[in-house]
Amino acid sequence: MNLILVAAPAAGKGTVAEILNKKYGLTPISAGELLRGVDPETDLGKEIRRIQSEGKLVSNEITNELMKQRLSKDDVKSGVILDGYPRIMDQVYALEDMMKELNFNIDYVVYLKVDYETALKRTIGRRICPNCKKTYNVLTGYNTPKVENTCDNCGCLLDKRNDDNEESLKVRFNFFKENTLPVVDYYKALGKVIEIDSSKDIDEVIKDLEKSLGV
Ligand SMILES: [Zn+2]
Repeated sequence: MNLILVAAPAAGKGTVAEILNKKYGLTPISAGELLRGVDPETDLGKEIRRIQSEGKLVSNEITNELMKQRLSKDDVKSGVILDGYPRIMDQVYALEDMMKELNFNIDYVVYLKVDYETALKRTIGRRICPNCKKTYNVLTGYNTPKVENTCDNCGCLLDKRNDDNEESLKVRFNFFKENTLPVVDYYKALGKVIEIDSSKDIDEVIKDLEKSLGV
C-alpha cells in the first residue's frame, strides 16, 4: 500500500507516519529528510546547504529529482508513506510523471485535518526536552509532563522551539490553504482522499484511519 500523507500544520503528521511505519512497515519518505540526507561534500549537497543557509526554499527541480531517485529504490515495493510530498500542485504533476515512469501507484491520500484552535494549542503548548528530545504539551492535556516544565525521562527543564508561536503558525496555515488544499482537492476529484479529523487524540486518529483503510 502506498499512501500520501497531507496534513494541516500541527495535525500530527510525523506521529501518524511513525505509527504506520511501526505497525504496517510502510516506509516514510519525507522531502525534508531527502534534502538533509544529501552528502554535504557533493556539489548538490553544497548547493542545498547554501540555499537553506540563506533561508530560501530549495527548488522544485531538486526536490522532485531526489524524490524520483528515492522512489527508484527497491525498498519502496513493500509500501511507502509520502510524508509532506507533494505539498504544491507542481509537485503533484512531477509525481504523476514519476509514477508513469517507475510504474508506481498511490492507493490513498490521507488528509489529516485540524481546526485552527487545536493547532494553536498544540503549537504554543509544545515543549521539548533539550537532552532526550522527548516532546510534551502543556495545553492540550495530552503528553503533559508529570512535574511542571520538567522532563519525565531525565528531569531536565523543558524548552520551547523558536518557531512554535502563533505568528509562524499563521504563515504555515496560509501556505497550506493557498498551496496544499488544491492538492487535496485534486486527489478528491480522483476519489483517493481519506479525510481524518486530526483534532482528536492520536489513538482515535489512528483508529479512524485504520477503519478507513480497512487494515
Ligand atoms: Zn528528557
